[in-house]
Amino acid sequence: MNIAKILQSQPDNGLITIKGWVKTRRDSKKISFIEVNDGSCLANLQVIAEDILPNYEEQIQHLSAGCSIKVTGHLTSSPAKGQNVELHATAIKIYGWAPPEDYPLQKKRHSFEFLRTIPHLRPRTNSLGAMTRIRSKLSFAVHHFFNQHDFVQVHTPIITTSDCEGAGEMFTVTALDLTKPETIKEGLFHHDFFGRQAGLTVSGQLEAEAYALALGKVYTFGPTFRAENSNTSRHLAEFWMIEPEMAFCDLTQNITMAEQLLKSLISYVITNCAKDLELFNRFIEKGLSDKLENIIKNDFDRITYSEAITELTKSGRPFNFPVEWGADLQSEHERFLTEEVFNGPLVVTDYPKTIKPFYMRQNDDHKTVAAMDILFPGIGEIVGGSQREERYEQLAVRMDEMKINREDYKWYLDLRRYGSAPHAGFGLGFERLVQFVTGISNIRDVIPFPRTPRSAAGD
Ligand code: ATP
Ligand code: MN
Repeated sequence: MNIAKILQSQPDNGLITIKGWVKTRRDSKKISFIEVNDGSCLANLQVIAEDILPNYEEQIQHLSAGCSIKVTGHLTSSPAKGQNVELHATAIKIYGWAPPEDYPLQKKRHSFEFLRTIPHLRPRTNSLGAMTRIRSKLSFAVHHFFNQHDFVQVHTPIITTSDCEGAGEMFTVTALDLTKPETIKEGLFHHDFFGRQAGLTVSGQLEAEAYALALGKVYTFGPTFRAENSNTSRHLAEFWMIEPEMAFCDLTQNITMAEQLLKSLISYVITNCAKDLELFNRFIEKGLSDKLENIIKNDFDRITYSEAITELTKSGRPFNFPVEWGADLQSEHERFLTEEVFNGPLVVTDYPKTIKPFYMRQNDDHKTVAAMDILFPGIGEIVGGSQREERYEQLAVRMDEMKINREDYKWYLDLRRYGSAPHAGFGLGFERLVQFVTGISNIRDVIPFPRTPRSAAGD
């Protein structure tokens, strides 16, 4: 039994065994109180060890934070405040010591910055442990949601030859030995493993479209890679993205699906991670619980990009990036809109086609596309999606205009030649969702081993 289950059980004096890591040890006359955590929940189990135990003086009295132990004992009701049960040890076995002189995790609270320097040990802290459990529950909730809505999960490739966003932010995957000067010759990738340049996927969308146009409703949930040199608190070079794609679906239905998904995920966590959330509510973001409840209760506001530009201009705010029709919304603009104007989630639709990828469906004004971004307070963009261009001619012309080689995307154009249908989808950044749900401000602290520019160390 793990500690989470034990803490919910009735003390019946029965003999049980637990295994975990010591958080603290405190001695009183002839007795030691040892707080043990096994990662199954935030709370520790209090172990009572008396000096009659054979290894009391030699070992138990030397236990310190980080040691791993096995305790066998009787579970009894506890007189102490804040806990129902405690474990009266009949035997304690030590698996591994953690010398206090150099064990980096002491009892005090450590900053996230410091913890980032020990990514292999930080999961043992309360905050990273709670984050990791919430992340896991959220991941389960994603699959649960799509399963309930009859979506089919598709494993799209991680190595790909299509740069979905066309922004050139791909990591190249090569089997060439680039340290040898003679490797660098004409037609470099022609000699490479795949016979052409390949990279790590920046999105599974294009491949998901192929499956949506066969299976109806599909989704992908996998790692995504972007070699963008943005050292921000919301960008990683390796992150996880949830990408549903739906045939016979327009922009409005797409937005509705995204809104339902977000609400469902957040309410799943509220129901299933109450104790872990409480930690974040108390120590990381005051008012977190209310913020999450409000997301579930209220409809998301919706405005067009053009209306957003009007709002921003009207505000008279001195933004760092200029506000003008045709320019992309920067994070400062997104956050102003969602945090100060709407004070809640905001869906922005119909962006200028010039700032969006080639596959988004052109609106009748020929200037904008059927795009939608969902902005969240404190985060900015959490979802980016669109109705896709299902008309062959329009798509091909748009590719020409954007200097995208039709030959390279022949398979993608085929989807418009054979049985094309209106379809739409979006990408939800999983880490940004975990940030929102926990209130953790830096994206490096919501993924086990963060990869960012000049940093891929620690494991
Ligand atoms: P941004 O403008 O914030 O850089 P984007 O427009 O490049 O994001 P999309 O291509 O629309 O992002 O990707 C869909 C979603 O994936 C985003 O809404 C965001 O939640 C998430 N996302 C995108 N880039 C990153 C990144 N580098 N690290 C973490 N999450 C990301
Ligand atoms: Mn986007």
